[in-house]
Amino acid sequence: MRKQELAAMLQGAPYDALMLTSEVARRYATGFHSSAGAVYLSAKQAVFYTDFRYAEAARCAVTDFEVRELGSGASYAAAVNELIAQDGVKTVALEDKALTYAAYTAWADSLSATAVRLGDGLEKLRVCKSDEEVGQIVAAQRIAEQAFDEIRNAIKPGVSEKEIAARLTYLMLHYGAENLSFDPIVVSGANSSKPHGVPTDKPIEAGDFVTMDFGCIVGGYCSDMTRTVAVGHVTDEMQTVYDTVLHAQLAGIACCKAGVTGRAVDAAARRVIEQAGYGEAFGHGFGHGVGLEIHEAPAVSSRGQSPLPAGSIVTAEPGIYLPGRFGVRIEDMLYVIEDGCINLTEAPKQLMIL
Ligand code: ZN
Ligand code: ZN
Repeated sequence: MRKQELAAMLQGAPYDALMLTSEVARRYATGFHSSAGAVYLSAKQAVFYTDFRYAEAARCAVTDFEVRELGSGASYAAAVNELIAQDGVKTVALEDKALTYAAYTAWADSLSATAVRLGDGLEKLRVCKSDEEVGQIVAAQRIAEQAFDEIRNAIKPGVSEKEIAARLTYLMLHYGAENLSFDPIVVSGANSSKPHGVPTDKPIEAGDFVTMDFGCIVGGYCSDMTRTVAVGHVTDEMQTVYDTVLHAQLAGIACCKAGVTGRAVDAAARRVIEQAGYGEAFGHGFGHGVGLEIHEAPAVSSRGQSPLPAGSIVTAEPGIYLPGRFGVRIEDMLYVIEDGCINLTEAPKQLMIL
């Protein structure tokens, strides 16, 4: 729960109150997950409105916001307008980056205070993870690693990509995940050259690389990992490409610390791949922030122009993709600290030939 940090945002801000209505922002503020609701925060009041479906659970779980139930047929805007009147609020910040245009304008039209854009204020707060948030992400990562340990027994010629994806899904839920961070990517052989390929009925064959990108959610927080394994045997080129991706990842990790830009970390990894002659085959960024959302700030790519803050968690996921042939990606999660980073991923990453 983040009431203190959110309240601090009000100080000196061009708004008197905050309205958080997106699912992620509500969860960030209250720690409570619901499909509907609204968080209102002013200097005087902190209220979480939700409906009958969630009210009882919310009253048990949410401590630093007053939980109020919205009656059926009542509107959130009317309820919030009462608070606005009580508090004498003139301007209210809305989540312009998270809301649809229609939702933003509907709120702006129905509130009795002037709507202003929240901008990236919440993003900046979310980027630095508390110990508790790090703990959830690590817990999710451990579950994914347990699934990875076990899935390796199932990867053999004749088993389809879809079957591996289904088993990964089951294993992560079985080991305690509340959900998946995203649908697992399992691509093999020539399909593995598609960075975000979709698992197909293609059976895994000897001589394939199998790339698995997957993660799960604990306490609302996502994990994200990728491993590429080989089946039966590899060619010299496959080994070279794998080693190049691993060296690139290690170069990026070595460069990753607070104060360094995401762009510089990306460049350190990219240099290794370019020098090996595969520059064209690494067409995406080195990494991204992870938290309540699977992709969030900060960017660790050529777009990452601001220094990485201490306390952020980012992925390290270079890859080389040779269309029609094969691809390799290796992805860990890094916790950025002042003098470096802590790798939160413990799964081995030397090439495994199953
Ligand atoms: Zn991933
Ligand atoms: Zn990722």
